Amino acid sequence: MADKDGFLSVPQPKIRYSCLYSDDELLDDDDDPSTPTRSVRRSWQDYGLSTLPSSGSVYLPPSGRLATTPPVDDPASSLSTVIKMGWLDKNPPQGARIFQKRWVKLDSEYLRYFDNDKEVYSKRIIPTCCITEVMCVGDQKFEVVTHNRTFLFRADNDLERTEWVRVLQEVMSPQQGYELTFNPTLTPDMQGYLELRGLRSKLYTVVSADKLFLYKNQEDYKLGIGITSIEMNVGNIKDTDRRAFDLTTPYRIFSFVADSEQLKERWVCVLRESIAAALSHSEVAERIWAEPSNALCADCSAPHPEWASINLCVCVCKRCAGEHRSLGPSISKVRSLKMDRKVWTEELIQVFLLLGNERANQFWAANVPPSEALSACSSSEERRRFITAKYRQGKYRRYHPLYGNQQELDNALSVNVQSDDLLETLSLIFCGADVNCCRGDADSPLLLAETCGRTLQLELLTHNRNTEIPRLEVGGHMDTVHYMAPPSITHNGFLFKTGSMARPITERKAKEEFSRRWCVLNDGVFSYYESDKAATPNGGLKMKEIVCLAVNPPEKHGYDHTFELYSDAERLYLFGQDNIDVVREWVKSIAKSFIPACAESFLQRDFERVGRLRYKDSLHLQTPRLGWFCLEGSALHVCLENRPEETIHLHKLKELSIQQDNEVLVLVERGRSLYVEGERKLDFAGWSQAIQRAAGSCGDSLGQQQLTETDIPVIVERCITYITQCGLTSEGIYRKSGVNSRVASLLEAFRQDARSVWLKEGEQQLDDVANVLKRFFRDLNDGLFTTHTSQHWLNTTALCDDVSKISKYQQLFSGLPRVNKATLCALVNHLYCVQCFADKNQMNLHNLAIVFGPTLFQTDGKDYNAGRVIEDLIQHYISIFSVDELQLKKQLDEMTLIIDLRDKLKPAPPGGHFICTVYLEEKKESAEQLVKIPATMSASELVCEILDRRKISVRDKDYWCCFQINEKEETERPLHFQERVLPIVHSLGTESHLLVKKHYSMEAMLVFLASKVDVAKHGMMRFREERSLLGLTTGSFNERYFILTPTSLRLYKEVRSNRAEREWPVKCLKVYLGIKKKLRPPTCWGLTVIYESDKPDKQERQQWYLCCDTQTELREWFATFLSIQHEGSVWPAEGCKMRSSRSVVSEARLGNVSLIPLRGNESDIRNSVAAFTADALALFKNT
Ligand SMILES: [Zn+2]
Repeated sequence: MADKDGFLSVPQPKIRYSCLYSDDELLDDDDDPSTPTRSVRRSWQDYGLSTLPSSGSVYLPPSGRLATTPPVDDPASSLSTVIKMGWLDKNPPQGARIFQKRWVKLDSEYLRYFDNDKEVYSKRIIPTCCITEVMCVGDQKFEVVTHNRTFLFRADNDLERTEWVRVLQEVMSPQQGYELTFNPTLTPDMQGYLELRGLRSKLYTVVSADKLFLYKNQEDYKLGIGITSIEMNVGNIKDTDRRAFDLTTPYRIFSFVADSEQLKERWVCVLRESIAAALSHSEVAERIWAEPSNALCADCSAPHPEWASINLCVCVCKRCAGEHRSLGPSISKVRSLKMDRKVWTEELIQVFLLLGNERANQFWAANVPPSEALSACSSSEERRRFITAKYRQGKYRRYHPLYGNQQELDNALSVNVQSDDLLETLSLIFCGADVNCCRGDADSPLLLAETCGRTLQLELLTHNRNTEIPRLEVGGHMDTVHYMAPPSITHNGFLFKTGSMARPITERKAKEEFSRRWCVLNDGVFSYYESDKAATPNGGLKMKEIVCLAVNPPEKHGYDHTFELYSDAERLYLFGQDNIDVVREWVKSIAKSFIPACAESFLQRDFERVGRLRYKDSLHLQTPRLGWFCLEGSALHVCLENRPEETIHLHKLKELSIQQDNEVLVLVERGRSLYVEGERKLDFAGWSQAIQRAAGSCGDSLGQQQLTETDIPVIVERCITYITQCGLTSEGIYRKSGVNSRVASLLEAFRQDARSVWLKEGEQQLDDVANVLKRFFRDLNDGLFTTHTSQHWLNTTALCDDVSKISKYQQLFSGLPRVNKATLCALVNHLYCVQCFADKNQMNLHNLAIVFGPTLFQTDGKDYNAGRVIEDLIQHYISIFSVDELQLKKQLDEMTLIIDLRDKLKPAPPGGHFICTVYLEEKKESAEQLVKIPATMSASELVCEILDRRKISVRDKDYWCCFQINEKEETERPLHFQERVLPIVHSLGTESHLLVKKHYSMEAMLVFLASKVDVAKHGMMRFREERSLLGLTTGSFNERYFILTPTSLRLYKEVRSNRAEREWPVKCLKVYLGIKKKLRPPTCWGLTVIYESDKPDKQERQQWYLCCDTQTELREWFATFLSIQHEGSVWPAEGCKMRSSRSVVSEARLGNVSLIPLRGNESDIRNSVAAFTADALALFKNT
């Protein structure tokens, strides 16, 4: 500690300069992963936050904590209730190995961690809405992923870890998958860099309302990830110097230095205001927040709403208040809880306490579809839409039974204001009752309330004397809003134009084919004139008619720079100019005036094509929606309806195809498919061409290739997979040369469109594929190790001790570009595996190094060190790449299994079976079993196989069963004992797995079925449809009457209904146990039902949900379904007796095997599905 104290006690500039460590190391214990590792790091804590005896002042870093310890419920932290706190280990900074103990605190707004549980100021503050993913990783660890950084924590035990992950996932923002480009949580009053005494680098400091936030830099601020926040209600500002001031809190003094005297003045002023705001009127806010529902924004649930609409009776956050204000005071009267002190009479406060956001929302938000609801990080656009719908249109309100009957409403209001039912008054007013009504000589409601001494009613009425009543405007579809051109955009100048046409321009247009035109963009219309003197235009088009704007590559036509406009009437206009700036200006102005606000982020982009298209995706499968698209390089930015901008990386698409006679472009990426429709031929043709071009490999460097999810070029991944499956035992693999012409043509096919090249055994020769991989690396532009670092890699071989060698390789590895890293990692893993089978393929470490050294370093064998690097990388593969050895062992085991099976099955008879992972009782690694699934295997055989392997004996009344578990849907389905497993295996997505466990309800189900004479059941259940599929407006569960007969399931509105509303054939229904929690099923006894029509002409898929009131009910319904679907045979009569005979059968059944493990990539699955469908008859053989 001595040297640290020494460092601390002399915070003089010259001493600081002699410091070994840069200042930013003091701030943070995790750093940009690309920063090279430094050998020693220090954190704030390392410097001990003791006071400085010499100056009598206290500094944070190096500064200190005052003697005061924070109270248990420290007011310096956010007022949000802490959801969870506790000790966790945080991952060490890059390179270091020791985890650091951190006190971690989570509330609904922020995840923070501290040096210890006494500390008031965090080391990190992460807004929960910036968290995009939380997931368990091995060893009691879990990751918290934000847009730019991943935080790794380790809990003491599994239970604790699970709990953290659960609470984090709960507070996590529901909106994911889009890039955050600004900090959504703050509306800054002032921001900028300030020096914090003791730190050489400045901190980005932001004052927002009553808090001050510290960020390492502006980037971090934009992404939301800060160091700490300081509550200003405990702060005090002291001028200390020309440019310096102190922010004193009971726990610490922050000494800031501004860049100039003027700036300091501004900071001091803003901070004093912030303190004043925090202190002055917080008592009104505190009182109103005492009603718990008032402590969350009525519209978006952001915590601590400091504003209120005094006539609508809701408390709202600052961002929502802005939207309220834009509705105008005749709809919403917005006041601050903290600043508009006068308006807050005792009566008004009481009104807010009695109504409160919760009760007010019972009226205002009685029918909010979940898809339209706001969250604390919704965009302004979403807020505007929602708040307009909610209060201007009254779209979600609970209609009063008297709605529409003016006189009855007025009467009811007059009567009700004499009671104390404020909610009823609110409901009457906003369903149309007239606050000022006078019936004959009767008193107005205002007078009545006053006479009766109902002061709270009077207060509510008074604020609504002139309120506009919400009404749904007629017509006015939201889409039309998109096309309103901002009138402010005007632009004019000369452009050269060709005649408009109705077909794509494929040929080069010479200068002579263009004519000079005076062009004017004004009032949302683009017109072109003969000359700038002409009074009437030759023609033009309205901005709302423009569906696409495309910028051509330079010199495509006679004029150097050209762009195309596509109209919805299928005309194409070509304009050009030699001056690039002129063209840019036009492109910008035109884009600005036809792109709607929801897609305005496109304007910042250097796009080649932008416009609107119809699309369908998993959320909207039925009817196409309008989306805005913007193509920039290989990124396709999309703004789909009501969603923030998303980016599709075209290089990483899993599939790109054109279907249905060039009318639908299908883009498949992980987890979703997007169908872009050709509403109009002309612009769609342009789009599909451009997208296909952008999705192809565009060059010879690694980063320009088509990539997999994990950033490995598709070509590399496909070759490696192929060799792994078919070539591990091939003698001299990678050393033998293939046939040159075949290698060249295969390589060319990969270059054209790697995604469409599927390697199949029998179609491609092993050595050809091996050579394609080698040639790909040899011809690579810039090489796998990159030109500018390859020499460093080569030099590393000279180091003599392994430890420093490994660490040098690690350092070089971490400096590689992302794609190079992923590729190197995959390749070395592959080579490591190849040499593990050297006894079969003769390619030991040395042989592989000789082959791959010159290939990867592109040295043509001149530098022996190239081979040595490869040898080192393979030899030290586990330490250099921090490989999980268990995982590696599993990988090798799988390979051994494949090799064994291949050996056994030569020559292969017809048939088909595949390898699948099945879990026993629980999905965890230790319960994993790899099982060969022959085409004929039934569920009960699979169960026996697993129990056999684990030597589990089956007792009487043990109903072991194989379940198909769908994690995403949170459902499970016990497979029927005779059900074939293979088709199920093929239908399993990544979110499903097979699990063998006891079926605890089976006994009860069998007893129930035995008691029944006929298989049928009827009764009430609660029913809900998958909203997006059927387009119903309510997403709630409704009571319905059901009759299940041996042929069909019928749904009736009520018991007495004569006619069924719906009817489904039972054989087309798949019934799963469970309903995903997100749908808020009213009971925990739910069924998820999938209907798939079997009519070939009308394929249809519906998913809906049934909820029972009791577990018994659920069992009975499920048992009836089972019994009907399987003709009364729900459980094998002989129990598990078939066991003994099984092993014999299984041997005889070893049919032809594609031997492709299903946990492989997509191509494996395709191949195995292909094999499966090719020989469907095999299913019926041997049975
Ligand atoms: Zn809000």
